[in-house]
Amino acid sequence: MLLRSGSVCKGEYIMKIIDLLKNEKLSLSFEVFPPKTETSFESVKTATEEIAKLNPAFMSVTYGAGGGTSKYTLEIAKNIKKMYNVPTLAHLTCVSSTKETVRERIVDIKNAGIENVMALRGDIPEELQNADRSNWDYNYATDLIKELKAINPDFCIGGACYPEIHPESANQKEDIKRLKEKVEAGCDFLTTQMFFDNNLLYNFLYKIREAGITVPIVPGIMPITNAKQVERAIKLSGSFMPQRFKSLVDKFGSDPDAMKQAGIAYATDQIIDLFANGLTNIHVYSMNKPDVAEKIQSNLSDIIGK
Ligand code: FAD
Repeated sequence: MLLRSGSVCKGEYIMKIIDLLKNEKLSLSFEVFPPKTETSFESVKTATEEIAKLNPAFMSVTYGAGGGTSKYTLEIAKNIKKMYNVPTLAHLTCVSSTKETVRERIVDIKNAGIENVMALRGDIPEELQNADRSNWDYNYATDLIKELKAINPDFCIGGACYPEIHPESANQKEDIKRLKEKVEAGCDFLTTQMFFDNNLLYNFLYKIREAGITVPIVPGIMPITNAKQVERAIKLSGSFMPQRFKSLVDKFGSDPDAMKQAGIAYATDQIIDLFANGLTNIHVYSMNKPDVAEKIQSNLSDIIGK
Protein backbone atom coordinates (compact mmCIF):
# COMPACT_ATOMS: atom_id res chain seq x y z
CA MET A 1 0.00 0.00 0.00
CA LEU A 2 1.44 3.32 -1.04
CA LEU A 3 1.45 6.12 1.49
CA ARG A 4 0.32 9.31 -0.20
CA SER A 5 1.81 12.62 0.79
CA GLY A 6 -0.36 15.66 0.36
CA SER A 7 -2.21 18.39 2.17
CA VAL A 8 -5.77 19.43 2.79
CA CYS A 9 -6.95 22.75 1.37
CA LYS A 10 -10.54 24.02 1.80
CA GLY A 11 -11.65 20.49 2.68
CA GLU A 12 -10.10 18.99 -0.48
CA TYR A 13 -7.11 16.69 -0.52
CA ILE A 14 -4.33 18.13 -2.66
CA MET A 15 -2.18 15.51 -4.35
CA LYS A 16 0.68 16.90 -6.36
CA ILE A 17 2.66 14.33 -8.28
CA ILE A 18 5.92 16.10 -7.52
CA ASP A 19 5.36 15.24 -3.82
CA LEU A 20 4.61 11.60 -4.62
CA LEU A 21 7.86 11.33 -6.57
CA LYS A 22 9.86 11.89 -3.36
CA ASN A 23 8.98 8.29 -2.51
CA GLU A 24 12.14 6.20 -2.21
CA LYS A 25 10.30 2.91 -2.57
CA LEU A 26 9.25 1.41 -5.88
CA SER A 27 5.93 2.81 -7.01
CA LEU A 28 4.01 2.34 -10.22
CA SER A 29 1.72 4.74 -12.07
CA PHE A 30 -0.51 3.78 -14.99
CA GLU A 31 -1.59 5.52 -18.18
CA VAL A 32 -5.03 5.29 -19.77
CA PHE A 33 -6.48 6.93 -22.84
CA PRO A 34 -9.96 8.41 -23.34
CA PRO A 35 -12.59 6.85 -25.62
CA LYS A 36 -12.69 8.05 -29.20
CA THR A 37 -16.49 7.99 -29.32
CA GLU A 38 -19.41 8.43 -26.95
CA THR A 39 -20.42 4.78 -27.43
CA SER A 40 -17.15 3.42 -26.04
CA PHE A 41 -17.18 5.79 -23.05
CA GLU A 42 -18.67 3.33 -20.55
CA SER A 43 -16.28 0.46 -21.43
CA VAL A 44 -13.24 2.76 -21.18
CA LYS A 45 -14.54 4.21 -17.90
CA THR A 46 -14.89 0.68 -16.48
CA ALA A 47 -11.38 -0.28 -17.61
CA THR A 48 -9.88 2.84 -16.03
CA GLU A 49 -11.75 2.15 -12.81
CA GLU A 50 -10.37 -1.40 -12.71
CA ILE A 51 -6.88 0.07 -13.01
CA ALA A 52 -7.62 2.68 -10.32
CA LYS A 53 -8.61 -0.12 -7.93
CA LEU A 54 -4.98 -1.28 -8.03
CA ASN A 55 -4.22 1.92 -6.09
CA PRO A 56 -1.32 3.14 -8.24
CA ALA A 57 0.77 6.15 -7.21
CA PHE A 58 -1.12 8.15 -9.85
CA MET A 59 -2.88 7.71 -13.18
CA SER A 60 -2.39 9.77 -16.30
CA VAL A 61 -5.14 10.30 -18.86
CA THR A 62 -3.95 11.14 -22.36
CA TYR A 63 -5.40 13.83 -24.61
CA GLY A 64 -6.53 12.83 -28.08
CA ALA A 65 -4.53 14.41 -30.89
CA GLY A 66 -6.36 17.54 -32.05
CA GLY A 67 -8.35 17.74 -28.82
CA GLY A 68 -11.45 15.96 -30.20
CA THR A 69 -11.77 13.83 -27.07
CA SER A 70 -10.80 16.51 -24.57
CA LYS A 71 -14.01 16.37 -22.55
CA TYR A 72 -13.48 12.64 -21.97
CA THR A 73 -9.94 13.20 -20.70
CA LEU A 74 -11.28 15.48 -18.00
CA GLU A 75 -14.29 13.30 -17.18
CA ILE A 76 -12.15 10.19 -16.76
CA ALA A 77 -9.51 12.04 -14.71
CA LYS A 78 -12.18 13.54 -12.44
CA ASN A 79 -13.91 10.18 -11.99
CA ILE A 80 -10.73 8.33 -11.01
CA LYS A 81 -9.83 11.00 -8.49
CA LYS A 82 -13.29 11.28 -6.96
CA MET A 83 -14.21 7.59 -6.86
CA TYR A 84 -10.85 6.06 -5.96
CA ASN A 85 -8.84 8.94 -4.47
CA VAL A 86 -6.06 8.19 -6.97
CA PRO A 87 -4.15 11.34 -7.99
CA THR A 88 -4.62 12.09 -11.68
CA LEU A 89 -2.50 13.73 -14.32
CA ALA A 90 -4.57 15.26 -17.14
CA HIS A 91 -2.69 15.51 -20.44
CA LEU A 92 -3.15 18.60 -22.60
CA THR A 93 -1.72 19.44 -26.03
CA CYS A 94 -1.52 22.84 -27.68
CA VAL A 95 -0.26 22.59 -31.24
CA SER A 96 -2.63 23.87 -33.92
CA SER A 97 -5.00 25.08 -31.17
CA THR A 98 -5.94 28.70 -30.56
CA LYS A 99 -5.13 30.56 -27.35
CA GLU A 100 -8.83 30.83 -26.66
CA THR A 101 -9.40 27.04 -26.81
CA VAL A 102 -6.31 26.19 -24.79
CA ARG A 103 -7.16 28.76 -22.11
CA GLU A 104 -10.69 27.36 -21.87
CA ARG A 105 -9.31 23.84 -21.39
CA ILE A 106 -6.90 25.02 -18.69
CA VAL A 107 -9.70 26.76 -16.79
CA ASP A 108 -11.82 23.59 -17.08
CA ILE A 109 -8.96 21.51 -15.60
CA LYS A 110 -8.51 24.00 -12.76
CA ASN A 111 -12.23 24.15 -12.02
CA ALA A 112 -12.40 20.34 -12.00
CA GLY A 113 -9.93 20.34 -9.09
CA ILE A 114 -7.19 18.54 -11.07
CA GLU A 115 -3.85 19.83 -9.84
CA ASN A 116 -1.50 17.89 -12.17
CA VAL A 117 -1.17 18.58 -15.90
CA MET A 118 1.05 16.92 -18.49
CA ALA A 119 1.93 19.78 -20.84
CA LEU A 120 2.54 18.59 -24.39
CA ARG A 121 2.96 20.15 -27.74
CA GLY A 122 1.28 17.24 -29.58
CA ASP A 123 2.28 15.89 -32.97
CA ILE A 124 2.03 18.26 -35.92
CA PRO A 125 -0.90 16.99 -38.04
CA GLU A 126 0.25 15.52 -41.36
CA GLU A 127 -1.54 18.17 -43.45
CA LEU A 128 0.24 20.97 -41.53
CA GLN A 129 3.75 19.51 -41.66
CA ASN A 130 4.86 22.09 -44.23
CA ALA A 131 2.72 24.99 -43.00
CA ASP A 132 4.12 28.37 -41.98
CA ARG A 133 4.12 28.07 -38.20
CA SER A 134 5.24 31.62 -37.45
CA ASN A 135 1.71 32.81 -36.72
CA TRP A 136 0.59 29.81 -34.64
CA ASP A 137 -0.44 30.57 -31.07
CA TYR A 138 1.62 27.63 -29.80
CA ASN A 139 4.67 26.00 -31.32
CA TYR A 140 6.18 24.11 -28.39
CA ALA A 141 5.21 22.59 -25.06
CA THR A 142 7.18 25.42 -23.41
CA ASP A 143 4.54 27.90 -24.66
CA LEU A 144 1.81 25.81 -23.03
CA ILE A 145 3.69 25.58 -19.72
CA LYS A 146 3.88 29.39 -19.59
CA GLU A 147 0.12 29.61 -20.21
CA LEU A 148 -0.61 27.01 -17.49
CA LYS A 149 1.56 28.87 -14.98
CA ALA A 150 -0.11 32.20 -15.85
CA ILE A 151 -3.59 30.80 -15.23
CA ASN A 152 -2.74 28.71 -12.16
CA PRO A 153 0.75 29.02 -10.64
CA ASP A 154 -0.17 26.09 -8.35
CA PHE A 155 -0.42 23.48 -11.09
CA CYS A 156 2.11 20.66 -10.82
CA ILE A 157 3.36 20.34 -14.40
CA GLY A 158 4.87 17.34 -16.15
CA GLY A 159 6.57 17.30 -19.54
CA ALA A 160 7.72 14.66 -22.02
CA CYS A 161 11.33 13.71 -22.71
CA TYR A 162 12.97 11.39 -25.20
CA PRO A 163 15.90 9.13 -24.25
CA GLU A 164 16.36 8.38 -27.98
CA ILE A 165 15.78 12.06 -28.92
CA HIS A 166 12.59 13.55 -30.31
CA PRO A 167 12.27 12.60 -34.01
CA GLU A 168 12.22 16.27 -35.08
CA SER A 169 15.46 17.17 -33.28
CA ALA A 170 18.63 17.51 -35.30
CA ASN A 171 20.73 15.91 -32.55
CA GLN A 172 20.67 15.06 -28.85
CA LYS A 173 22.56 18.17 -27.78
CA GLU A 174 19.89 20.39 -29.36
CA ASP A 175 17.10 18.24 -27.91
CA ILE A 176 18.53 18.48 -24.38
CA LYS A 177 19.03 22.25 -24.75
CA ARG A 178 15.31 22.61 -25.60
CA LEU A 179 14.39 20.24 -22.78
CA LYS A 180 16.25 22.45 -20.34
CA GLU A 181 14.27 25.48 -21.55
CA LYS A 182 11.08 23.49 -21.04
CA VAL A 183 12.03 22.65 -17.45
CA GLU A 184 13.02 26.25 -16.76
CA ALA A 185 9.60 27.39 -18.01
CA GLY A 186 8.05 25.51 -15.08
CA CYS A 187 8.12 21.75 -15.60
CA ASP A 188 8.18 19.95 -12.24
CA PHE A 189 9.00 16.49 -13.57
CA LEU A 190 9.56 14.65 -16.87
CA THR A 191 8.12 11.36 -18.12
CA THR A 192 10.07 9.52 -20.79
CA GLN A 193 8.96 8.16 -24.10
CA MET A 194 8.91 4.34 -24.10
CA PHE A 195 12.24 2.55 -24.48
CA PHE A 196 13.16 -1.13 -24.58
CA ASP A 197 16.82 -0.94 -23.65
CA ASN A 198 17.45 0.50 -20.19
CA ASN A 199 21.01 1.45 -21.12
CA LEU A 200 19.56 4.12 -23.41
CA LEU A 201 17.85 5.66 -20.40
CA TYR A 202 20.96 5.54 -18.20
CA ASN A 203 22.95 7.24 -20.94
CA PHE A 204 20.26 9.92 -21.34
CA LEU A 205 20.10 10.50 -17.58
CA TYR A 206 23.82 11.05 -17.44
CA LYS A 207 23.62 13.63 -20.22
CA ILE A 208 20.65 15.60 -18.89
CA ARG A 209 22.07 15.73 -15.36
CA GLU A 210 25.35 16.97 -16.84
CA ALA A 211 23.35 19.66 -18.70
CA GLY A 212 21.88 20.81 -15.36
CA ILE A 213 18.39 19.30 -15.62
CA THR A 214 17.65 18.21 -12.07
CA VAL A 215 13.88 17.51 -11.97
CA PRO A 216 12.68 13.94 -11.27
CA ILE A 217 12.55 11.62 -14.27
CA VAL A 218 9.78 9.05 -14.51
CA PRO A 219 10.72 6.26 -16.94
CA GLY A 220 7.82 5.20 -19.19
CA ILE A 221 7.56 1.44 -19.79
CA MET A 222 5.34 -0.01 -22.50
CA PRO A 223 4.44 -3.69 -22.02
CA ILE A 224 4.21 -5.12 -25.53
CA THR A 225 1.51 -7.76 -25.36
CA ASN A 226 0.90 -8.58 -29.02
CA ALA A 227 3.02 -8.71 -32.13
CA LYS A 228 1.06 -5.98 -33.97
CA GLN A 229 1.83 -3.56 -31.16
CA VAL A 230 5.55 -3.86 -31.91
CA GLU A 231 5.19 -2.28 -35.33
CA ARG A 232 2.90 0.45 -33.99
CA ALA A 233 5.25 1.21 -31.10
CA ILE A 234 8.28 1.56 -33.36
CA LYS A 235 6.36 3.75 -35.81
CA LEU A 236 5.07 6.02 -33.06
CA SER A 237 8.19 6.32 -30.96
CA GLY A 238 11.05 5.31 -33.25
CA SER A 239 12.31 3.21 -30.31
CA PHE A 240 15.25 0.85 -30.71
CA MET A 241 14.32 -2.83 -30.37
CA PRO A 242 17.13 -4.84 -28.77
CA GLN A 243 17.85 -8.28 -30.21
CA ARG A 244 16.69 -9.87 -26.96
CA PHE A 245 13.27 -8.34 -27.52
CA LYS A 246 13.17 -9.19 -31.25
CA SER A 247 13.89 -12.87 -30.47
CA LEU A 248 11.00 -12.92 -28.08
CA VAL A 249 8.61 -11.53 -30.73
CA ASP A 250 9.97 -14.03 -33.31
CA LYS A 251 9.40 -16.92 -30.95
CA PHE A 252 6.01 -15.98 -29.45
CA GLY A 253 4.52 -13.44 -31.91
CA SER A 254 2.06 -15.91 -33.41
CA ASP A 255 0.83 -17.22 -30.03
CA PRO A 256 -1.22 -14.43 -28.36
CA ASP A 257 -1.17 -15.88 -24.82
CA ALA A 258 2.54 -16.66 -24.89
CA MET A 259 3.34 -13.23 -26.42
CA LYS A 260 1.37 -11.48 -23.70
CA GLN A 261 3.13 -13.42 -20.97
CA ALA A 262 6.55 -12.79 -22.51
CA GLY A 263 5.84 -9.06 -23.06
CA ILE A 264 4.71 -8.61 -19.45
CA ALA A 265 7.79 -10.49 -18.22
CA TYR A 266 10.06 -8.25 -20.35
CA ALA A 267 8.43 -5.07 -18.98
CA THR A 268 8.66 -6.43 -15.41
CA ASP A 269 12.34 -7.17 -15.94
CA GLN A 270 12.95 -3.62 -17.21
CA ILE A 271 11.23 -2.19 -14.12
CA ILE A 272 13.28 -4.35 -11.73
CA ASP A 273 16.50 -3.23 -13.41
CA LEU A 274 15.43 0.44 -13.26
CA PHE A 275 14.61 0.18 -9.56
CA ALA A 276 17.89 -1.60 -8.87
CA ASN A 277 19.60 1.37 -10.51
CA GLY A 278 17.87 3.97 -8.34
CA LEU A 279 14.75 4.87 -10.36
CA THR A 280 11.84 4.56 -7.98
CA ASN A 281 8.81 5.86 -9.88
CA ILE A 282 7.90 4.00 -13.02
CA HIS A 283 5.08 4.93 -15.37
CA VAL A 284 3.47 1.97 -17.15
CA TYR A 285 1.75 2.58 -20.48
CA SER A 286 -1.06 0.26 -19.48
CA MET A 287 -3.29 1.28 -22.41
CA ASN A 288 -6.70 0.64 -20.76
CA LYS A 289 -5.71 -2.97 -20.01
CA PRO A 290 -6.45 -3.71 -16.34
CA ASP A 291 -5.22 -7.31 -16.65
CA VAL A 292 -1.80 -6.15 -17.88
CA ALA A 293 -1.52 -3.50 -15.13
CA GLU A 294 -2.56 -6.03 -12.51
CA LYS A 295 -0.10 -8.68 -13.70
CA ILE A 296 2.84 -6.29 -13.69
CA GLN A 297 1.92 -5.06 -10.24
CA SER A 298 1.54 -8.60 -8.87
CA ASN A 299 4.85 -9.67 -10.47
CA LEU A 300 6.47 -6.93 -8.38
CA SER A 301 4.44 -7.42 -5.20
CA ASP A 302 7.41 -8.36 -3.03
CA ILE A 303 9.48 -5.45 -4.35
CA ILE A 304 6.88 -2.64 -4.29
CA GLY A 305 7.15 -0.71 -1.06
CA LYS A 306 10.61 -2.12 -0.22
P1 FAD B 1 8.18 19.80 -27.31
O1 FAD B 1 8.76 19.70 -25.97
O2 FAD B 1 7.62 21.11 -27.71
O3 FAD B 1 9.30 19.33 -28.35
C1 FAD B 1 8.98 19.07 -29.71
C2 FAD B 1 10.22 19.27 -30.58
O4 FAD B 1 10.52 20.67 -30.67
C3 FAD B 1 11.48 18.62 -30.02
O5 FAD B 1 12.26 18.22 -31.12
C4 FAD B 1 12.17 19.76 -29.27
O6 FAD B 1 13.58 19.56 -29.15
C5 FAD B 1 11.85 20.94 -30.19
N1 FAD B 1 11.79 22.26 -29.52
C6 FAD B 1 11.26 22.54 -28.33
N2 FAD B 1 11.33 23.88 -28.08
C7 FAD B 1 11.90 24.44 -29.18
C8 FAD B 1 12.23 25.77 -29.58
N3 FAD B 1 12.00 26.82 -28.77
N4 FAD B 1 12.81 25.96 -30.81
C9 FAD B 1 13.06 24.93 -31.64
N5 FAD B 1 12.78 23.64 -31.32
C10 FAD B 1 12.21 23.40 -30.12
N6 FAD B 1 0.53 13.27 -27.67
C11 FAD B 1 -0.81 13.53 -27.63
O7 FAD B 1 -1.39 13.97 -28.64
N7 FAD B 1 -1.54 13.35 -26.49
C12 FAD B 1 -0.97 12.89 -25.32
O8 FAD B 1 -1.64 12.75 -24.32
C13 FAD B 1 0.43 12.59 -25.33
N8 FAD B 1 1.07 12.15 -24.21
C14 FAD B 1 2.43 11.93 -24.24
C15 FAD B 1 3.08 11.52 -23.06
C16 FAD B 1 4.46 11.27 -23.06
C17 FAD B 1 5.13 10.84 -21.78
C18 FAD B 1 5.20 11.40 -24.26
C19 FAD B 1 6.67 11.11 -24.27
C20 FAD B 1 4.58 11.82 -25.42
C21 FAD B 1 3.19 12.09 -25.42
N9 FAD B 1 2.52 12.53 -26.59
C22 FAD B 1 1.16 12.80 -26.55
C23 FAD B 1 3.26 12.69 -27.85
C24 FAD B 1 3.81 14.13 -28.00
O9 FAD B 1 2.74 15.03 -28.16
C25 FAD B 1 4.72 14.16 -29.25
O10 FAD B 1 5.87 13.41 -29.01
C26 FAD B 1 5.06 15.54 -29.80
O11 FAD B 1 5.66 15.37 -31.09
C27 FAD B 1 6.05 16.36 -28.98
O12 FAD B 1 5.48 16.82 -27.83
P2 FAD B 1 6.42 17.53 -26.70
O13 FAD B 1 5.51 18.06 -25.67
O14 FAD B 1 7.49 16.61 -26.29
O15 FAD B 1 7.03 18.73 -27.57
